[in-house]
Amino acid sequence: MTTVGIDVGGTKCHGVVADEKGAVVAELRRPTPHAGELIDLLAEMHRELGGGSALGIGVPGLVTPEGIIKASPNLRGAHDIEVGPRLRSALGIPVHVENDATSAAYAEWRVGAARGTDDALIVTLGTGIGGGVVMGGQLQRGAHGFAGEIGHMVVEADGIECVCGRRGCWERYASGSALKRLSGGMPGEEVFSRAMNGEEGSLAVVDDFARWFCIGVASLTNVLDPQVVVVGGGVVDAWSVLHPAIARWLDRLLYSSDNRPQPTVRPAELGPRAGAIGIALLAADAA
Ligand SMILES: [Zn+2]
Repeated sequence: MTTVGIDVGGTKCHGVVADEKGAVVAELRRPTPHAGELIDLLAEMHRELGGGSALGIGVPGLVTPEGIIKASPNLRGAHDIEVGPRLRSALGIPVHVENDATSAAYAEWRVGAARGTDDALIVTLGTGIGGGVVMGGQLQRGAHGFAGEIGHMVVEADGIECVCGRRGCWERYASGSALKRLSGGMPGEEVFSRAMNGEEGSLAVVDDFARWFCIGVASLTNVLDPQVVVVGGGVVDAWSVLHPAIARWLDRLLYSSDNRPQPTVRPAELGPRAGAIGIALLAADAA
């Protein structure tokens, strides 16, 4: 059986047809329209991808279990959009709507770097920080479907202003865009490539970035005690310099680190397709 999964991003919608093992058999990308035209575009993409018997939609924002987008800072005009109910009645098939980072985390857990584990934390670093939590072999959604918003965990009271309107959120300090700020404006890829060439200034920036990253991961590990922490996003390409810095800081920042097994920190395996694959798998499971 194959299912269609569409990952709705701030600039493009990425659709895939995936089989039950998460293998992608077809793919399609379209620019993201204004929220008012989003539902028509998603129905059209589903048709163009062969009209699978179940459809999954991943969206960047808060989504209810019924599939209503409550808020999304990265989608223009998105507020109370009934994506799930309207697509279900338009297409007459099961439609599952989930947060995009939760979907990506699900893919890494089912068929990627966290497969085979029961307790995993998946952290994706991009413009912001997205995440997903698997505990006891179950994806955690919380009481209202809003669990896993780890990027908006406050790591510095009265810190830098965030897109969410509050201050000091973790994603202002440890996301891809935060790396650029920490380096004084140098793009993240350049910081990493210089660090991989051994340049001291860039190695110091990577170390500072790893420290901010571990401030969040240490708190999450203290709460959740995961077996594995999967790190996704462009930073995976610089794993050879980033991982040693993360290991050092996590050991230093974790509660009682001498007396406990520490989580294994691993790079994500599925790349930018994780969100679309994950939402296709979730839709197949829910159908
Ligand atoms: Zn925030």
